Amino acid sequence: MRFCVAIDGPAAAGKGTISRAVAAHFGLAHLDTGLLYRAVGMKGGDPVAAARSLSSEDLARPDLRSMAAGEAASRVAVIPEVRAALVAFQREFAQREGGAVLDGRDIGTVICPEADVKLFVTASPEVRAGRRFAETGEGTFAEVLEQVRARDARDMGRADAPLRPAEDAVILDTSDLSIDAAVARACDLIAARRG
Ligand code: C5P
Repeated sequence: MRFCVAIDGPAAAGKGTISRAVAAHFGLAHLDTGLLYRAVGMKGGDPVAAARSLSSEDLARPDLRSMAAGEAASRVAVIPEVRAALVAFQREFAQREGGAVLDGRDIGTVICPEADVKLFVTASPEVRAGRRFAETGEGTFAEVLEQVRARDARDMGRADAPLRPAEDAVILDTSDLSIDAAVARACDLIAARRG
């Protein structure tokens, strides 16, 4: 059975944790699409050529979760040819037999507009910066907050596939929710749609 769950939202809102948890709960395959952009950003050289030749080794780099990789990703993600080169792989993943969860910025709007469930996971910039700071321990809180705001501005302001909720997405604000409560809400919603 094909069943696609699209989970979008800004950096450090909790979408990765929620996506992994719901994929495990419902036995769905999971693709963190941010990793594709991170791998392109970290590969160096021409980003369009990097996106067209992305390999499984590129996706296995140990430094893809760093703040630097996130920054590099959001810079190459504004290039339409980079985005175009990554579409087919994501759409094929979404069509998997057995169902899939994809998380990113444009899954509900561009990659899988026909997704069975669309979630937009968000939280205030301060809460997200606090989580990112606790997780990475890189820099100061003020620096992380500035990076979160800059990344939001770049992701929401770009012309091609800007970060925004799909019209039919359910908004899940995790600012005042524990991770368990956020996962439970996402699971309830998916269970209701799966029938
Ligand atoms: O989700 P993550 O923080 O790993 O994403 C890194 C960057 O990759 C984002 O800030 C965004 O610019 C880009 N991205 C994107 N579209 C996606 C996933 C990530 O533009 N579907």
